Amino acid sequence: MEETKVEQTNVEETKVVRKKKEKPNLKESIYSLLPEELEQWLTERGHKAFRANQLYDWLYVKRVDSFDEMSNLPATLREELKASFLVKTLETIIQQTSADGTIKFLFQLQDGYSIETVLMRHEYGNSVCVTTQVGCRIGCSFCASTLGGLKRNLLGGEIVEQVVRVQKALDETSERASHVVIMGIGEPLDNYDAMMSFLKVINHKKGLNIGARHITVSTSGIIPKIYQFADEQLQINFALSLHAPNSELRSRLMPINKAYKLPDLMEAIRYYTDKTGRRVSFEYGLFGGVNDQVEHAEELAKLIKDVKCHVNLIPVNYVPERDYVRTPRNQIFAFEKTLKKHGVNATIRREHGSDIDAACGQLRAKERKQETE
Ligand code: SAH
Repeated sequence: MEETKVEQTNVEETKVVRKKKEKPNLKESIYSLLPEELEQWLTERGHKAFRANQLYDWLYVKRVDSFDEMSNLPATLREELKASFLVKTLETIIQQTSADGTIKFLFQLQDGYSIETVLMRHEYGNSVCVTTQVGCRIGCSFCASTLGGLKRNLLGGEIVEQVVRVQKALDETSERASHVVIMGIGEPLDNYDAMMSFLKVINHKKGLNIGARHITVSTSGIIPKIYQFADEQLQINFALSLHAPNSELRSRLMPINKAYKLPDLMEAIRYYTDKTGRRVSFEYGLFGGVNDQVEHAEELAKLIKDVKCHVNLIPVNYVPERDYVRTPRNQIFAFEKTLKKHGVNATIRREHGSDIDAACGQLRAKERKQETE
């Protein structure tokens, strides 16, 4: 775990006119489509199939913001595209750069809602943390993202565009967004089709070409969707937000545990590891005095002892509306040590950008207070 320095925080706030939220009548994002889907759209309208490659090149290699810039496409085609799709649907409201290089974006969507995206710097590459929903309906007791409930699902293209926007910011220093984690606002398995479309588009060789093993999906545990995801047999990393070693405690922290019970959840996880041959990551937030005692570590080790897994220990991020406190550092180490003693792979998550509200949903939570909802 690294200390985050608080000096040198750089905040760029753009004066974006805050839109009033109407009943969403969303225009489709061009980033929702795979090259094959674009090709079909084009040929159905009498255009040449190769235009799909040209379009993909403009979107993902040249990374332009409008159809008008796509100069090798006929003007009539550009007009048809404009009538059906948007290129730019995300307007940057705030871009904050932390002392450790973390960049946090607050974007405004076409219907006025706002979402967050975070770029984190690791030794192994640059990782983009994307949002999948405006708000969340899972209701975890420690999480800022769920405070105003769920407003709407994001379109697949709105999720893809977050990575494109971050990549465009990195273009300025000739860097690449090499990794993606679906750990921003929302429950990705509650917006399953958009999530799958997002995964296919960012993984596509002609698109951003982000390798499956560089992508992580995290879920609060929607059991039927875990089975569905396992059956996709992708090489994508899979994380489960576990946070407790027993049902009673998990239900207190995560109400979803009442609908999808812990023993059934563990069975779904075993199905996933068997089916894909891949290990799973368990996310375990340490909430001071709640789930952070050595006995909890013992119980956790027992719960997951025959699962092919890794445990990520997350020191709680302070959320003003929630009253959880941090586990003292020596106790975090004791927890980790206990897991290791039982042969469980465990690491303590490094913190990124804690000087800039980088925990999921915190920047948006501030923004929400200004929104006309
Ligand atoms: N809905 C998905 C994706 C969110 S990922 C999921 O639940 O997995 C974000 C991770 O951060 C999850 O493990 C979530 O439980 C955790 N988290 C949310 N709020 C937190 C907080 N205040 N402190 C520590 N971890 C938190």
